[in-house]
Amino acid sequence: MEDKCKVIAIANQKGGVGKTTTAVNLGVALARRGLSVLIIDSDPQNSCTRCCKINDPDSLDVTLSELMSYEMTGEDKDYILINNAIKQFENIDLIPSNISLSGTETALFNCMSRESVLKRTIEPFRKSYDIILIDCMPSLGMMTINALVAADSVIIPCEPSFLSVKGLDLLLHSIAKIKRQINPSLQIDGVLMTMVDSRTINAREITNALREAVGLNINVFNTEIPRSVRATECPNVGKSIFGHDPDGKVATAYAELAKEVIGLERKAQVRPRPHGLR
Ligand code: ADP
Ligand code: MG
Repeated sequence: MEDKCKVIAIANQKGGVGKTTTAVNLGVALARRGLSVLIIDSDPQNSCTRCCKINDPDSLDVTLSELMSYEMTGEDKDYILINNAIKQFENIDLIPSNISLSGTETALFNCMSRESVLKRTIEPFRKSYDIILIDCMPSLGMMTINALVAADSVIIPCEPSFLSVKGLDLLLHSIAKIKRQINPSLQIDGVLMTMVDSRTINAREITNALREAVGLNINVFNTEIPRSVRATECPNVGKSIFGHDPDGKVATAYAELAKEVIGLERKAQVRPRPHGLR
C-alpha cells in the first residue's frame, strides 16, 4: 500500500541557522492546517526535544537512540516500547533524543547498510502521519546522511550571511551525492532564509545573492523568517511561536511557510512519479 506520508529533513551542517526552530514551528504550523505531524530529533544535543518542553531528556527511557539500536541489532521490535517513544507537544508528536544518540552514531559505522538505519527505523511511523520532519544535527556526518536517506525531501534553513551562503555549496554537494548513490527520489524543497532583518541592507543583498546563486535550479522559499527576540524566548517558556506570540511576525511567517510546503506537495502529486527510480 502506498502511503501518503512525506518525510522532510531540515538540514544544514552549520549550527545556529534555525533548523530546530523551523522543525518545531513549521511542524506546529502544518498541524494547524490539519496535517498529522511527527518530529524526529536526530541531534544528540537534543535542543528540539527541549523546545518541545521535555526538560530532562537524559532521563527518558526510550528515545530515537533506542529505536535505532533495535534496528541495528535486528532484535524483534517491542511495539509497546516503540509507542512509548512518542511524546506530545502542542498539536504535534515527537520522537525525542538525548546524549545517547552520539553513541548510536558511532555504532552506525560498524553496522550493515549503515546509511539506511534511520529510514528503516521510521518506516513503521509513516502510516500514521502526513508529515515527518527530521531535525538534523549540525554536521554532514553519518546521522545527517541517515536523515537524507530517510527523507523524501529536504528544507535548508540559511542565515543571511555570506559565509552561510558559501557553506551551502558543501551541503548541496552532499545532497547531490546521496541522491546519485543512495536515494534517487530525494528532492530539495527549498532554501529557507531565517533570522532575516529586513532593515539592514546587508540581509537584503545576501538574500538577493542567494537567490541568484541557487535560484535557477533550487527553490528559495518566498517566505522569509524574520529575526525576532520572541523566537528566542520560545524554549524558555516551553511553547511554540504560535503559543508564545501568535500574532507576531515569526508566527505569521511560519504559517505562510506551511502553506508553501503544502503547495509543493500538491504540485508533486499531479506530476507523474518516476517509478523506475525507486
Ligand atoms: P540550529 O538548530 O540550526 O542550530 P536553532 O533553531 O537552534 O538553530 O536557532 C539558533 C538560535 O537562534 C536559537 O537561540 C534560536 O532561539 C534563535 N533563533 C531561531 N530563529 C530565530 C528568529 N527567527 N529570530 C531570532 N532568533 C532566532
Ligand atoms: Mg538544532
